[in-house]
Amino acid sequence: MIPINFTTVGTLYVVATPIGNLEDITLRALRILKEVDLIAAEDTRHTKQLLNHFDIHTPLISYYREKEAERSEELVQKMLAGETIALVSDAGTPGISDPGAVLVKKARTAGITIVPLPGPSALTAALSAAGITDGTFLFLGFPPARKGQRQKLLSSFVDSSWSLVFYESPHRIQAFLADVLAILGDRQAFWGRELTKLYEDLQEGPVSHLLELASTKKNRGEFVLIIHPGSSQQVTGESVEDILLWYKENTELSLKDVSRRVAKDLGVSRSNVYQMALELWAVSKEES
Ligand code: SAM
Repeated sequence: MIPINFTTVGTLYVVATPIGNLEDITLRALRILKEVDLIAAEDTRHTKQLLNHFDIHTPLISYYREKEAERSEELVQKMLAGETIALVSDAGTPGISDPGAVLVKKARTAGITIVPLPGPSALTAALSAAGITDGTFLFLGFPPARKGQRQKLLSSFVDSSWSLVFYESPHRIQAFLADVLAILGDRQAFWGRELTKLYEDLQEGPVSHLLELASTKKNRGEFVLIIHPGSSQQVTGESVEDILLWYKENTELSLKDVSRRVAKDLGVSRSNVYQMALELWAVSKEES
């Protein structure tokens, strides 16, 4: 065991940095980045540019997702030996869909003081411009890359009364919006793209409208997507058939998803409900 002199144990500062506009750096962040012994950065080359801009010359060490556990151990030892460290990610707030949590947890367990420096985050920037009147939301970060997993995740929020907040990249936004439309229906939605940057773009409208924009626009930049809760329309119907028809007429859910939900809600056999839905869907197809 290495003897620890608690009077000299360092501090971990968790520092938010700009998500585009460098003017968004806080005065406190600038002071701490100058004063600490070491800056642990997700990508040292990226952070170096930020530091150069503000004429800061603090040494850097890399701290990225794949090395979180190993590097955290090393950084904790440095802080136990008295060094002060600032943790930054490439942009925004560390730990918000970015590395950071492992180090914070290890540092706290080791008795190191953790000081968060609040500042930019795409999450709060988008929320502040979205106008969520009841103030409740659920942050889900990046949706899964695989379609099946994405759809499964979305299906579990069909009844949610919260606004759902996602991060998404430009090359997946279209596929993701298509899944949202199919699973959650044509709800009201909002996106904040290129927030704080020159081509900042805020859009609001039904999911189908955003999907149309996503397929026609050159979607450079990163997105925060907010899907508002579905309408509070109550499912109505006296029989299983009525309920199935209600879903068919009022939602964009697939036959499979409708059957799954109705079977679960009524506590009846899924295969029976599925069979019934197949027949109803077939009849209405013939009629149309
Ligand atoms: N820790 C960061 C934060 O606090 O916002 C988020 C890091 S995460 C790896 C990157 C994602 O955040 C992007 O894919 C995008 O969804 C979102 N994002 C980051 N900067 C953004 C910006 N300027 N405008 C819109 N979304 C942004």
